[in-house]
Amino acid sequence: MAEFDFDAVVVGAGAVGLACGYALARRGLSVAVVEQDAAIGQGVSSRNSEVIHGGLYYPTGSLKARLCVEGRRMLYAFCDSHHVEYDRCGKLVVAQSTAELGRLDEILEQALINDVEGMARLSKAEALALEPELACEAALISPESGVFESHAYMLALQGEIEAAGGAVVLATPFEAATPLEGGGFEVLAGGAEPATLTCRYLVTAPGLSAQSVAADILGFPAELIPPAHYGKGIYFRLSGKAPFQRLIYPPPIHGALGTHYRRDLGGQGVFGPDLTYVDKPDYTVDPSAAAGFYGYIRKFWPGLPDGALSPDYAGVRPKIHGHDEPQPDFRLDAEDAHGLPGLVALFGIESPGLTSSLAIGEEVAARLGLPPIP
Ligand SMILES: Cc1cc2nc3c(=O)[nH]c(=O)nc-3n(C[C@H](O)[C@H](O)[C@H](O)COP(=O)(O)OP(=O)(O)OC[C@H]3O[C@@H](n4cnc5c(N)ncnc54)[C@H](O)[C@@H]3O)c2cc1C
Repeated sequence: MAEFDFDAVVVGAGAVGLACGYALARRGLSVAVVEQDAAIGQGVSSRNSEVIHGGLYYPTGSLKARLCVEGRRMLYAFCDSHHVEYDRCGKLVVAQSTAELGRLDEILEQALINDVEGMARLSKAEALALEPELACEAALISPESGVFESHAYMLALQGEIEAAGGAVVLATPFEAATPLEGGGFEVLAGGAEPATLTCRYLVTAPGLSAQSVAADILGFPAELIPPAHYGKGIYFRLSGKAPFQRLIYPPPIHGALGTHYRRDLGGQGVFGPDLTYVDKPDYTVDPSAAAGFYGYIRKFWPGLPDGALSPDYAGVRPKIHGHDEPQPDFRLDAEDAHGLPGLVALFGIESPGLTSSLAIGEEVAARLGLPPIP
């Protein structure tokens, strides 16, 4: 049998790459996670809502539906065992007009199909009893939704990989991979000390760079690389007391769950993200966008005071569909898709990627033909 430097190389030390590394390390494989940045988790995983999604909306039979629900259950257990802070605060999906009541029925039906625990329909009075500052016609409650400390989560994953003898190698960009005769890959890594390493398995989880990384794998069919689209979302932070304990979400918009309210773990209210397609990643927040946010938020929180919102941060979704196209599923492309044994290439890992990350890791292991952990 061929000797490899590592059993597995994972490209990208965001939440998903680290979770894949953890899944492989737990199976006794030697793992190297290569990351171009000087620190872990500086990509999409550092600019999101840190919401642990219940898994309500995703279509029946999709990876998103299954991996979000499984991943959420695994994530709470992981946070418990690794002392990662979270708040299982629950979420209200609110109908802001009678015209939206039908959307609540549809979302509830899908959530029940998706096996989301504890879902219930609330009347206006019941919703206002929970959140007195809310304005709505009716709501759904998802008690399993929450927020968590995603950077502490990623550090815990790194710790697990290293404790198992693996390595998270920073400031080391993946540059190319060549399939080896007889199986496995030779990986060319750049940085201050360029190196080649060999591995049996290669997993690519480079977020916004998924397309360029796949293009640098010799033999990866170019026609299977999806187009790269960038779905920017901005956030505004609330000064003053947070008005709600629970997450507040209007029904989803096309292409995203849309602007919502959360109380972060520091107790402050945050609103966002909206969705704008941009030509390249761009993290500016235009203060003039506040006008639209005030109007939108006051539909469910009429008490929002003038001047209470300030520009916060922006994130960019690694989308693989244009703004007028249906939202596709996660893509975890294995040999049956691209023909290269030992490779799983991830594309389009936008929301709920953070929630799903541990389950994505398990699914990647399965797609590499590795057995589940009892
Ligand atoms: C605005 C917004 C809000 C969101 N909110 C939520 C939410 O509340 N809940 C939820 O579940 N999900 C949410 N998501 C989705 C979630 O953030 C992502 O699905 C997840 O963080 C993706 O993680 P990742 O590891 O795939 O990507 P990343 O975190 O981007 O990690 C990829 C890593 O690969 C590295 N890399 C790239 N190219 C190379 C290379 N050539 N060599 C080496 N390293 C490389 C990058 O530097 C980066 O560190 C949100 C996303 C956005 C944009």
